[in-house]
Amino acid sequence: MSIADNFQTIRQRIEQAAVKAGRDPKTVQLVAVSKTKPAEAISEALSVGQTIFGENYVQELVAKAVELPKEICWHFIGHLQSNKVRQIAGLVDLIHSVDRISLAREIDRQWGEIGKSCDVLVQVNISQEANKSGTTSEELLDLVKEVAALPHLRVKGLMTMPPFFDDPEGARPYFRALRELSGKVEAAGIANVEMRELSMGMSGDFEAAIAEGATLVRVGSALFGERDYGSK
Ligand SMILES: *Cc1c(COP(=O)(O)O)cnc(C)c1O
Repeated sequence: MSIADNFQTIRQRIEQAAVKAGRDPKTVQLVAVSKTKPAEAISEALSVGQTIFGENYVQELVAKAVELPKEICWHFIGHLQSNKVRQIAGLVDLIHSVDRISLAREIDRQWGEIGKSCDVLVQVNISQEANKSGTTSEELLDLVKEVAALPHLRVKGLMTMPPFFDDPEGARPYFRALRELSGKVEAAGIANVEMRELSMGMSGDFEAAIAEGATLVRVGSALFGERDYGSK
């Protein structure tokens, strides 16, 4: 299967999952996770109409962004170190992984320097696994309030990564929990906060995530094949 074929298959599955859930398929966007994949793979995806790409590593993202067309909409989805924020200021359209106030302050500072605002999602570690980033469900509301007070940031929603299950249904309670948390944040009516996006679901479980309300699914290996070197 070529990358183009994979995109067709995954888009169909996204559409079917949305319809099955009684949702408009247009409300679900595909973030093609291209980490560890070469620029040629991204070009191929671009040629079949994919414009949103997710990357996990700052250096890799910057290298690809200089090489590839400007029309690409880059999303940063991985753990982000504050000292690397400057390199991606103005380059990415959405950061999915804001998990602490110190990081939010640095994003605010760097986007402020270039006179722009950055759209962000707050990452929640619902399963509280020690090896995963994200704020706890309990601390979420306080973090969102603090982040929303920063002038060069706009909170657009939440992101999570559930534990791995062989059966995608296993992840569903975590997806549902993120949707419920989003409702709770929305109900708090914080200025500068929109709970518009739910970033959840990957190659193995995006259909379950769509059933629970995902608006951004982050799919990597099902589109580009298995990754060649060690990363999650
Ligand atoms: C790698 C990665 C994905 C994509 O995972 P696949 O299982 O290859 O689809 C999604 N989200 C994050 C945060 C990732 O790091």
